[in-house]
Amino acid sequence: MSLIVGDQPLRVACVGGGQLGRMMNLEAPRLNLEMTFLDSLGLNSPAAQTTARVIEGSLQDAAKIHEIAKNADVITVEIEHVNVEALVELEASGCNVQPSARVLGIIRDKFLQKQHFINHDIVVPPFRETPSIAAVQNAAVELGLPLMLKSRRGGYDGKGNAVLKENTLEAIEEALKQLGITKSDASTALDLYAEGWIDFKCEVAVMVVRSSRAGDPQVPFVTTKSYPAVNAIQQDSICRVVLVPARNISAQVRHKAEILAQKAIDSLGAGASGVFGVEMFVTNSDDVLLNEVAPRPHNTGHYTQDACACNQFENHLRAICGLPLGSTDMTVPAAAMVNVLGASSMEETLASSNAAMEMAGAAVHWYGKAACRSGRKMGHINVIGDSQSQIDIALEKLLALERIPTD
Ligand code: ATP
Ligand code: MG
Ligand code: MG
Repeated sequence: MSLIVGDQPLRVACVGGGQLGRMMNLEAPRLNLEMTFLDSLGLNSPAAQTTARVIEGSLQDAAKIHEIAKNADVITVEIEHVNVEALVELEASGCNVQPSARVLGIIRDKFLQKQHFINHDIVVPPFRETPSIAAVQNAAVELGLPLMLKSRRGGYDGKGNAVLKENTLEAIEEALKQLGITKSDASTALDLYAEGWIDFKCEVAVMVVRSSRAGDPQVPFVTTKSYPAVNAIQQDSICRVVLVPARNISAQVRHKAEILAQKAIDSLGAGASGVFGVEMFVTNSDDVLLNEVAPRPHNTGHYTQDACACNQFENHLRAICGLPLGSTDMTVPAAAMVNVLGASSMEETLASSNAAMEMAGAAVHWYGKAACRSGRKMGHINVIGDSQSQIDIALEKLLALERIPTD
């Protein structure tokens, strides 16, 4: 496809209108694209501050997904927890869903995702299917303790994960309770799986962008590019800080992570189009294991807005629309991103952003969420600089102002 299609903009429908959809829409008009969103918050969603084309409805509501798709040239998502079956129906009726419903179906279920990757020789933590308490007990014997129990679907920011430290019925029931599963629910099949504990040195992430023309027989060359590997520093399973390029690992290990991430996305085959966030663990012996993949722009890729030639949101739109991909190269030597999490008041929440407004090399990206809940991602701050030490000075100032929520 080319940038101008007739005299009309190309129409992109996006399932989900949170901050990721909003940031896609900030890039869309420059590319002559017109986006429409579906979001449960409707006109109160982050995307709605950037366009009036927002339909209110659940991301699980097939009828609403059909409604936003009605006049769209391309349908995409900003989150994987959507009604994939509705997208399968749309594809069957000739709609252009990018990434494809098949790819979204694999990624939406972390267990299917892990199975897919081991079948394609991508190293992941050891894991077991655990549809019952007895299966959890067996997994704890086979994989050892602590054991990470994960919901197959719907998890984010560590919600959906529970750590099992003892292989006793009481400890398992307690872990299930944390995951919202009561004793009576546990008598039916559990929608869980278990992962062996990885004692990692650090977590890294790579954003991969893959062109939708990859599956097109008219275009023999698959275009897959990666952005540089970053450190993703998590606190209580929420990403707090991203450092670019990744530190404390050698250039070879960074390269290994970038190659693994591209191989993982290529393994998803035709329909693996758009931007994908690939989260990985680096062990003390420098092995790189894949943790999980997100089929969309990702929190660890926000730094690209201020530090790369073409940011992840623009490249996602280019990829799903079949436009040529932009450069993933950095335009500065070093960068970082700090998530702004909701504190106990709006004033406290805004402290780091207000300070960033006065700092050279810092850029505030606010999401416009209707309510400021404790621990909620309200925005982020990107910092760019000529050296890591310059970045560190800025980070120290910003993090001193960020209240880490304790509840
Ligand atoms: P996201 O918000 O990135 O979607 P999520 O809720 O899907 O996160 P995971 O990425 O599965 O959750 O896990 C959250 C964090 O928990 C990881 O970033 C890592 O710090 C830790 N973690 C996950 N799996 C393991 C494991 N097998 N061993 C040790 N730590 C783990
Ligand atoms: Mg996840
Ligand atoms: Mg994760």
